[in-house]
Amino acid sequence: MNLYQDIKPLQSHLQAKRRQNLRIGFVPTMGALHAGHLSLIDAAKEKCDIVACSIFVNPTQFNNLLDLELYPRNIENDIRLLVQSGCYILFHPTIEEMYGSDFHKDSAAVYGPYINLLEGAHRPGHFDGVITIVKRLFEIIEPDEVFFGQKDYQQCLVIKTLLERNFTNIVFNRCAIKRETDGLAMSSRNVKLNKEERIAASLLIQALNHIKANWNAETWETSIAEAKKMIAHNKHLQLEYLCVTDPDNLTELSAFNMNAIALIAAYCGQTRLIDNLLLN
Ligand code: AMP
Repeated sequence: MNLYQDIKPLQSHLQAKRRQNLRIGFVPTMGALHAGHLSLIDAAKEKCDIVACSIFVNPTQFNNLLDLELYPRNIENDIRLLVQSGCYILFHPTIEEMYGSDFHKDSAAVYGPYINLLEGAHRPGHFDGVITIVKRLFEIIEPDEVFFGQKDYQQCLVIKTLLERNFTNIVFNRCAIKRETDGLAMSSRNVKLNKEERIAASLLIQALNHIKANWNAETWETSIAEAKKMIAHNKHLQLEYLCVTDPDNLTELSAFNMNAIALIAAYCGQTRLIDNLLLN
């Protein structure tokens, strides 16, 4: 695997590959890699000739300084996993290399009203940081296709809009959520859960499954209320939101609709977890 911290040599390597007509798949991450990230690398390998992955814990997308400081990092293990996975290039820049002296933060507000809902409402400025860094990464890498996880469903909508507006030649791929055997969505943050919290964390997917199992015109509303109670009754969990929305614009449903998605965010101890489930 070819590892780059600096933009210029990375770009000359990629240009050489482009001249050979090789298609470049790109998987942006914040590291502390797990099987969920590696499933994106696999998807990229399947559709493209070479895969580039980035690892950058982006300070501008954290609205909470402590959350940024405590974010898990394990670059040696990440490199080992990427080599095993057949990733071709790892871009692991410093903050200075990414943001340099002409730093300015983009605003996500123009990408649609759903920016201010759910994650946007609970993590003010989060999507400004996401847009800023992802735009910069796309400009540097110039990929043919990009691969993002459904785990961050709202982020997928934002990135799709970004591509439609600014990078029409890049193909967007949304990849399924990889889960632990009890259904918990894999996340870099899961390593922070203690034994009791880890058990409690599986209630997130149980609550979403409860909604899906009762997704019909008669029981849809009661099942959402029951799912909220499942979370509220556990002492390790603090619910931020549990909503069922239109999958395209994230507005909460006011009437039953088969085409819907349930999204959840909750603190499990000190660790913030998110998950979602398409209901159709
Ligand atoms: P992160 O490192 O958390 O910023 O995630 C990098 C990419 O991996 C994002 O596109 C995430 O949506 C995706 N991802 C994270 N967890 C999972 C998972 N459990 N299954 C599939 N993709 C995931």
